[in-house]
Amino acid sequence: MKAVKVLTVLLLLTATAVSCSNGPVEYRKTKPLMDTIVTITVVSESDRKADEAIESAFSVISRFSDKIDFFKHTSELSAVNRNAGIAAVTVSPETLGVIERALYIAKISGGAFDPTIGPEIRMWDFAKKVRPSDEEIRKNLPLVNYRDIVVDRSRSTVFLRKRGMLMDLGGIAKGYAADLALADLKKEGIAAGIVAAAGDIRAFGLKPGGEAWRVGIMNPRQKSKADELIATARLSNKAVSTSGDYERYFIENGRRYHHILDPKTGYPAAGCRSVTVISDDGIFADGFTTAVFVLGPEKGMRLVRDCGADALIIDRDGGVHTTPGLKKMVAFENGH
Ligand code: ADP
Ligand code: MG
Repeated sequence: MKAVKVLTVLLLLTATAVSCSNGPVEYRKTKPLMDTIVTITVVSESDRKADEAIESAFSVISRFSDKIDFFKHTSELSAVNRNAGIAAVTVSPETLGVIERALYIAKISGGAFDPTIGPEIRMWDFAKKVRPSDEEIRKNLPLVNYRDIVVDRSRSTVFLRKRGMLMDLGGIAKGYAADLALADLKKEGIAAGIVAAAGDIRAFGLKPGGEAWRVGIMNPRQKSKADELIATARLSNKAVSTSGDYERYFIENGRRYHHILDPKTGYPAAGCRSVTVISDDGIFADGFTTAVFVLGPEKGMRLVRDCGADALIIDRDGGVHTTPGLKKMVAFENGH
């Protein structure tokens, strides 16, 4: 069991449910899922309805997670990886859906996002400060290439062309889980809420008082021990994701090694400290944070703008880059 990762953003929720004189209130529950903490908040007039809806959404995330869990022997993803270079594997619509979207993000990012990063990422252990040798990294690079993923939509199959290839959906899965959970909440009759899978958050509707949901974006270099924010986003019907080099990392000889790898080199991407993307869907917000982190601020911003999303990038030197649209949704803390 891996350690629960540090939250990249803070959900800014009131400590107790907010009531508007017998009107709807906020209900919130938290559960460890997908190697992290998932928090679901819904607005409802009935605690029973709220509880049932939240539990139903947790089950949706849990079932999805079981299918795409890299470490679970029985997952569909493990079956695809075991059959790399051997055979195409039939997968469920959810797994096919996330892989197709991962491929789309890989294509439009020119391979900066690459779900076949598995053979490289598996050699690192950020908690134990283990890093592979230059030689090991170089040897595995030919196995990292999203073009060697073959998806047959009509048969619902996925095939990895080369033996030794490993698909890892960690850069996109939590955003998609938030999307699936949100769709389920709506199906359960919930009109407003927010799903937060650590740093991958999707909000819909408004809080009981009619305000937008507030999501805090952390400063990637904390000055004090407290969770210091760099900015706060106000959102309704949007997804926000943050990826940073401060989440899973270690420092050796003054150099920071972290969990977002450049698929071209196999080494941690060096252009950014953190990337926040605001988009309509969780899966794209999540996938783009990883892609933009690898592309760096200039190319990353271009990609985000071309796709009609918004971003806040803190570059390697602490410089802040934003899309024009972001300023309408995000308020910066004093001093930033
Ligand atoms: P987090 O999981 O912390 O929210 P990301 O969304 O950026 O952060 O995902 C990082 C994870 O994605 C890594 O732990 C790894 O599993 C995977 N990954 C790392 N580099 C890449 C990459 N270039 N393309 C696709 N996935 C990646
Ligand atoms: Mg991501």
